[in-house]
Amino acid sequence: MNYRARSLTLFISIVVLCCTTMYGLAMHWHTTRSPQRMTVTMLDIGQGDALYVRFGDGSDMLIDASPDRSVLTELAEVMPWWDRTIDTLILTHPDSDHIAGAHAVMQQYTIGRIFDCGLRDKHTETVKRVYDDIREQDISLQSVYAGDQFDIPSGEQIHILSPKALVPQSEKDSNSCSLVFTISDQNATVLFTGDAPAEIEEQLVTRDSTILDVDVLKVAHHGSNTSSVQSFLDAVTPSIALISVGEHNSYHHPHPSVISRLKKTGAQIFSTVDDGRVRCVSTGEMFECRGE
Ligand SMILES: [Zn+2]
Repeated sequence: MNYRARSLTLFISIVVLCCTTMYGLAMHWHTTRSPQRMTVTMLDIGQGDALYVRFGDGSDMLIDASPDRSVLTELAEVMPWWDRTIDTLILTHPDSDHIAGAHAVMQQYTIGRIFDCGLRDKHTETVKRVYDDIREQDISLQSVYAGDQFDIPSGEQIHILSPKALVPQSEKDSNSCSLVFTISDQNATVLFTGDAPAEIEEQLVTRDSTILDVDVLKVAHHGSNTSSVQSFLDAVTPSIALISVGEHNSYHHPHPSVISRLKKTGAQIFSTVDDGRVRCVSTGEMFECRGE
C-alpha cells in the first residue's frame, strides 16, 4: 500500500470511528431524554418535606428541600448523574423542615426558577440565608396564588389552589401560607398540600371540591391531627396517601386519627418511616407507587 492509500485508509477509519462514537452518544442522549411518564418521588429525608417530580420531557421540579443536606443524598439517587439543573424549586412555606435544605441545593444545583407563597420576612436565620442565596444567585423568584397555572411542554399541568393572596405576616400563619397545588399528567393527578391546616382544607372544599378529587394526596403537615379533616378527605378520596415524616419525631406525627381517617377513605398509605423513599409513576390514568 502506498503512502496515499495508507492515508486514505486512516482517514476513513477515523471518520467511521467518529460516526460510531457520535451515534452511540446520540442513542445515549435519546434513551435518557426520550419522553417518559411523569414520576413523583417522596424523598426519605426524615422529619420534613422534599418531593422530586420528573416530567415527561425530562424537566424537573423539587417541592420543598428538607430540613438539611439529606436532600442532596436523595437527589443523587433519583436524578440522572449528568443533570445538575433543577428547573423549578417550590418552597411551599418558610418553615425550616421544608426550606432549610434549599441552601445546600442551591450550592450543588443550578435552579431555573423558584415559586413561593410570598411569605419571606419571617425573621429566622434559616429563611434569611435561603432568600439571601436566591438574591445572590439572581434566581427568578415568583410568588404564586390560587388560579395560577403552569404548563409543562410534555403536557403536564400545575394548578395553584392556595393561598388566594399573600397571607398576612405572622409566625402562626406560615402553615396557612402553604402552597397547595395539583400536578396532572392527563387523568392522573397528585395534590400537594405543604403544611396546610384544617381551615385551609375547609376553605378549599367550600370553594370547589371537584378540583380536589385526585389520585395521590401528599398528606398535609406530616399527618398532624390539625390537618386532614374528614370533609377534605371526602372530597379528595385519594387512592394513595403519601406521608413524609421522621422516625420517633417529637411531634408524634402521623397522628393515629389521621391514619384512621385515611384508611376509611380506602387510601393505600405510604410513609417515609415505613417505606423509605416512595416513587410514584403515572400511567396517565393513575399512579403506581412503591417504596425503595
Ligand atoms: Zn412541615
